[in-house]
Amino acid sequence: MKKFTAILLTGIMLTAVAAGCSNKDNGGNNGGSDGDLPTIGVAIYKFDDTFMTGVRNAITDAASGKAKADIVDSQNSQPTQNDKVDLFINKKVKALAINPVDRTAAGVIIDKAKAADIPVVFLNRQPLADDMDKWDKVYYVGAKAEESGTLSGQLLVDNWNANKSMDKNGDGILQYVMLKGEPGHQDAELRTKFSVKAIEDAGIKVEKLAEDTAMWDRVKGQEKMAAFLAAHGDKIEAVLANNDDMALGAVEALKSAGYFKDNKVMPVVGVDATAPALQALEEGTLLGTVLNDAKNQGKATLEIANVLARGETPTKDNTGYDITDGKYVWIQYKKITKDNMNDAK
Ligand code: BGC
Ligand code: CA
Repeated sequence: MKKFTAILLTGIMLTAVAAGCSNKDNGGNNGGSDGDLPTIGVAIYKFDDTFMTGVRNAITDAASGKAKADIVDSQNSQPTQNDKVDLFINKKVKALAINPVDRTAAGVIIDKAKAADIPVVFLNRQPLADDMDKWDKVYYVGAKAEESGTLSGQLLVDNWNANKSMDKNGDGILQYVMLKGEPGHQDAELRTKFSVKAIEDAGIKVEKLAEDTAMWDRVKGQEKMAAFLAAHGDKIEAVLANNDDMALGAVEALKSAGYFKDNKVMPVVGVDATAPALQALEEGTLLGTVLNDAKNQGKATLEIANVLARGETPTKDNTGYDITDGKYVWIQYKKITKDNMNDAK
């Protein structure tokens, strides 16, 4: 009997030692913690996106000393992202932060997360409301897409009111072209709609000469703008782009067509306020942009995920961010021109 007890005790002690060791083991299968820091599994729709690179860096910075952010590239493929989510779940991460490739796929991810009881924070690509309602441990960090649309339209309104010469043909109508982001993305659909609405709401008549998607991409933006110029040339009085990369692509095409020298101007507006966009504001090729606050979107995502990873409910007190309807964090946009570009740094 004594001998049996001794073996049993040794067994218990060994188990305790083993448990103690695995707590300190950061590698291998112990994805759930880094020392005492919880692991948060982060999947970005694709690493090769200027704006999301800013958000990704902000997540890494905010995690420092608080959590281990395991950030992976979904390579613009929803099946790849689903596999990454499965891997995170197998590794028993404490929370997920997902930037969906296809925002309508969020429901599938929520089902997986719920089954494993791992809370999930979505960012940048807003899941449908029905999906958000599937579980109470689902959050979204983003910005109100219509707000950025309105602000980018207002940038052109301000310019129209300040410069009569913007109406090149003097017909009182603003002839514009639109470079749209990825169709179906809330930011592409709503920026397109609300930018034009803001111009009309200011009492300015508009005429759309051309609209096409350039998929958030600089090179595609340049190609589409070159095509717009070939078709409409000097009839174009303004360029609206749903993001800065496409706006900067348009600027390239305009430069090749002789703009931005010898008094040949073209008002171009974007959204994001990325570093290269600020440079273009400085050199005067970009008229304006809208700050899409990557730093705060990344930080809020990490803070919410970190609180959830610890089994707590996110509040303003423990995250620093207002939470609307129990699950949304909305980060403000801001109009940016050369005059206030320091606000975007
Ligand atoms: C940004 C784009 C970016 C997209 C990615 C948008 O909010 O403005 O620059 O490509 O998010 O989902
Ligand atoms: Ca005109």
